Amino acid sequence: MSAATRRLLIAGNWKMNGHAADGCALARSLAAAPEDWAATLLICPPATLLAPVASVLAGSPVALGGQDCHAEAAGAHTGDISADMLADAGCTHVITGHSERRAAYSESDAVVRAKAAAAHRAGLIAIVCVGETAAERDAGKAEAVVTASLRASLPDSTRPENTVIAYEPVWAIGTGRLPIIDEVIAVHAALRAVLGEHGAAMRILYGGSVKPDNAAALLAPPDVDGALVGGASLSAADFLAIAGAA
Ligand code: PEP
Repeated sequence: MSAATRRLLIAGNWKMNGHAADGCALARSLAAAPEDWAATLLICPPATLLAPVASVLAGSPVALGGQDCHAEAAGAHTGDISADMLADAGCTHVITGHSERRAAYSESDAVVRAKAAAAHRAGLIAIVCVGETAAERDAGKAEAVVTASLRASLPDSTRPENTVIAYEPVWAIGTGRLPIIDEVIAVHAALRAVLGEHGAAMRILYGGSVKPDNAAALLAPPDVDGALVGGASLSAADFLAIAGAA
């Protein structure tokens, strides 16, 4: 499989934003948009909105995902949500290892690996995130850091059908700062090499300050198979403009 046959994915991570009224209105705008995208559209609202947004999206091509899951299917884990529960709520995808969770909750690659395995057991597609800090990039270690992190974050159950990789430089998330395109191309190529036999078929997204005005350039390289979008996914117009650039 080549770039031409890897269907692009534009994924929106709403993070801890949205209440029933505005979240459903946003989902409704996306569901009502024309369906001739070159990309699959996915939105990942906060957990409280999964059920109402699932109802809004029913019958539309826009997919639903969770922002995180626990590594176990059920049990005494107050405040957590399992991958099984996300699937039950209508999700097809879940983000694992977002840098905000790695930083705020000390999630290691091993934890991310266990969560991705749980996602696979639940029949979900895991979006496994990796990215370097500004200090790591400045030290010339970006490729070494992200490839090591990817190797340690992928469970044995990883397949192109159940896993998407997201390269998200930590310093580019929510900052408006972007890597130069050649850096994105180099990191994506290094990540694809890590994927071995699965590399040709697995999608690798770029994430970090993707906006309507930079999306076309970021999505142009053949090794960039879509985008993970934070802030701009909270505006239907911006998210659809990014999807339109794909
Ligand atoms: C993200 O949080 O995954 C992200 C890419 O955010 P933003 O688009 O706001 O930089």
